[in-house]
Amino acid sequence: MPFDYDPENIFAKILRGEIPCDKVHETEHSLAFRDIRPQAPVHALVIPKGPYATLDHFCEEATDAEIVDFWRCVGQVCRSEGVEDGFRAIMNARKNGVQEVPHLHVHILGGRPMGRMLDPA
Ligand code: 5GP
Repeated sequence: MPFDYDPENIFAKILRGEIPCDKVHETEHSLAFRDIRPQAPVHALVIPKGPYATLDHFCEEATDAEIVDFWRCVGQVCRSEGVEDGFRAIMNARKNGVQEVPHLHVHILGGRPMGRMLDPA
């Protein structure tokens, strides 16, 4: 399956500096910023700087350096956002995953009990 990437998605615009974000952390290959519609006291998004739409796209085509950098950035965000009591990491993909922005991102949610993993469909 070839992977598509739309360079006009909102996170690509954030990466190009065309729209602002509330930055949490930045590394060579990754950027973390706060979600514009937070669903918990802590709600950060971590994205790779490269043009990857989904987790499977990233796992197939990103370099080892990008993959390591991304997960190290996630770890740094967890430390700096103070989620010692626990957090949830969510990655949505495509239609069935109800992905709104087609640029890979992991949601880091915390600061309160997060409830069960999934609502009944
Ligand atoms: P998805 O449903 O794709 O996993 O989540 C996309 C997330 O991006 C949503 O939680 C939404 O609130 C967030 N979001 C959408 N547009 C913007 C934006 O312009 N800035 C920021 N910081 N977050 C955004």
